[in-house]
Amino acid sequence: MNRVLVLEDELAVADVIELALRKAGFEPLIVGGVQAAREHLHPRAFVALILDLGLPDGDGMSLCRWLRGHADPALNALPVVIVSCRDEESDRVLGLELGADDYLVKPFSPRELVARVASVLRRVDNRFRQEVPEITIGPLRLSRVSFTGWVHGSVVPLTKTEFELLWVLAGSPQRVFTRQLLVERAYGGATVSDRTVDSHVKGIRHKCTSPTKGWDPIETVYGVGYRVRSG
Ligand code: CA
Repeated sequence: MNRVLVLEDELAVADVIELALRKAGFEPLIVGGVQAAREHLHPRAFVALILDLGLPDGDGMSLCRWLRGHADPALNALPVVIVSCRDEESDRVLGLELGADDYLVKPFSPRELVARVASVLRRVDNRFRQEVPEITIGPLRLSRVSFTGWVHGSVVPLTKTEFELLWVLAGSPQRVFTRQLLVERAYGGATVSDRTVDSHVKGIRHKCTSPTKGWDPIETVYGVGYRVRSG
C-alpha cells in the first residue's frame, strides 16, 4: 500500500507533486480542500498526507490538529509532511508542534519532496516494526537488543517502561508527541494517565542527568507534550 493523499489547491504545484510521487512509485490522490481531505481520510487509506497550509476552505494546520486529536490510532499516527510557502519560523514550529513529521518550504524540488516523504515513512516503519536495534542521538544511545540506554557511554538504568517511552520519542527526534500519542505508542494503549507519563519522563530525566551523565534528552513543549532533541 503506497497511496499518498495530497492536499494542495494550486493546480500547478499539485501536478508537480503528483508526477514526482508517481515516478517514485507512490499512488497520489490530489484533493483541493480541507473538507474533501477529511472525506477521504479513512483509517489506513493512505500511508502519508502531504499538506498545504493555505487552502480555500480553511487552514491545513486545522487538519493536522484534527488528525493528531483523532481517536483512531491509524489516523492519529498518519505521517504528515507540510508543504507551504509560509517560511515563518512560527509556522514551522507550530506545524511540528501540532505533530507534523516534516515541513517543506515552497518552492521545493520534486526530488526533495520525495526524499522527505520516503524518510518520514522509513522512520515510521522502523518505529512500528522495531527493526532498528539501536538509536543514537547526540550523547544518547539506546539498544533494543538489551533494552539498555547510555548517556556519554555511561549506562542509564531505565525500567522497561522508561525505555519504551524514550525509544518512541527518540525514534522521531524533534517531533512533538502528545501524552495521548505516547500512551498509544509506548504503553501499548494501556490505560495510563497524563500524570503517569509525566512521572516516567521525570524518571528518565533524573537518570540521564546524574553527575556522570549530564544530558537531558527530553524537551517539554508547553501545552503540547514532549520531544527528544536532535542531538
Ligand atoms: Ca495553497
